[in-house]
Amino acid sequence: MSTAPRIAIAGAGLGGLTLARVLHVHGIASTVYELDASATARDQGGSLDMDPESGRQALLHAGLLEEFRPLSRPEDGELRLLGKDATVGFRIPAPEPGEGDEGEERPEIDRRALRDLLLRSLPEGTVRWGHKIRSASPGPGRPALTLSDGRTVEADLLVGADGAWSRIRPLVSEADPVYSGLSYVDCLLRDVDTRHPAVAELVGRGTMFALADEKGLIAQRNGGDRVRVYAAVKAPEEWSRSGLIDPADPVAAKKRLLDLFPDWDEGLRALIAESDGPLVARPIHALPIDHRWDRMPGVTLLGDAAHLMSPFAGAGANLAMLDGAELGLALATHDDLETALNAYETPMFPRAEAAAAQSADNLTDFFHPDGLRIARETFIALTSGGEAR
Ligand SMILES: Cc1cc2nc3c(=O)[nH]c(=O)nc-3n(C[C@H](O)[C@H](O)[C@H](O)COP(=O)(O)OP(=O)(O)OC[C@H]3O[C@@H](n4cnc5c(N)ncnc54)[C@H](O)[C@@H]3O)c2cc1C
Repeated sequence: MSTAPRIAIAGAGLGGLTLARVLHVHGIASTVYELDASATARDQGGSLDMDPESGRQALLHAGLLEEFRPLSRPEDGELRLLGKDATVGFRIPAPEPGEGDEGEERPEIDRRALRDLLLRSLPEGTVRWGHKIRSASPGPGRPALTLSDGRTVEADLLVGADGAWSRIRPLVSEADPVYSGLSYVDCLLRDVDTRHPAVAELVGRGTMFALADEKGLIAQRNGGDRVRVYAAVKAPEEWSRSGLIDPADPVAAKKRLLDLFPDWDEGLRALIAESDGPLVARPIHALPIDHRWDRMPGVTLLGDAAHLMSPFAGAGANLAMLDGAELGLALATHDDLETALNAYETPMFPRAEAAAAQSADNLTDFFHPDGLRIARETFIALTSGGEAR
């Protein structure tokens, strides 16, 4: 762009940080406003696999692919699908050592390691920690943010990268996330190889789905010898907030959760029974599959703010990063701001819609009474093979 626009990015998630980084690579400054007090204020969640066509493309545009490789864990790329009796119905082995970080593979990386990589790549002061955005307004002249302390910040471009409950989204859209009918309970097991060897054996080197009775136990290897477990149940939206699963009382929470998986194999129930630390329940929401908006001068959205979807396409973080990279490239390429925003949004809308539709279909299919069989067929079709049994 010929004159330096003032760019304000709401949210230092993977999408907002990728945008800031790609802009920086092209010599364009931006400021990221983030509500967390620091980079370590909050657990960043589990492991992500980087899709070659989205997350890894974004890392390439960010000039970070080389630094990404030693942080990634291609050896944790196994996929297992189990029934509630713990028999394996489908398996894709982890890549052999030396494979899995090139071509079509999807190497795993812990979210914290990925976010830290992006943060390290930005000039000091780019992220304003502890800056909670209360609201945003379209003008009169330029869009503006209002922070929780009452200060306002004007910008030529305001980017909502502030996730599911974006404070920027209302400027362009009336859509709100809708509860999917499914809730997760997050559990974590530490020192799995030494303290939980049977769990380590059951989960293998990657992600394990156990599906039955319209429920699921989804476990994934994380770095640092940890296994993260998502227990998935159909429940009313209020269930997560009802106090039945109380993070402050893990003993009672485990018992209540185990009661929802009464006749599941003990090895699978151990994913809950042996978990360390608090259990955290959360409802899974999604925006309408075809969510889009009319061009609003100087304002756009990316990532979950634009296209929140359930996690069953494994796409949200990958797409948030691709959005950030493509928006950064568009701003670096086009002199006119609105031309750049059009160039970014035009391919982003159908791309997000396809992933959101896939994710919604997978949720319906996996938590169907016959979900195990349908998931097996889905995985076979997606991977054209694996080791089906
Ligand atoms: C259980 C689960 C598993 C998932 N697994 C995968 C997977 O395997 N692969 C994959 O690709 N995706 C996965 N996803 C989806 C992925 O987590 C999201 O799509 C991704 O994190 C979106 O990134 P983002 O940058 O758009 O938003 P976020 O990661 O939500 O970041 C938004 C940032 O904005 C900040 N913020 C929010 N509100 C404000 C405010 N008012 N003021 C200032 N800052 C604010 C937040 O603190 C946060 O730092 C999963 C999601 C869940 C729930």
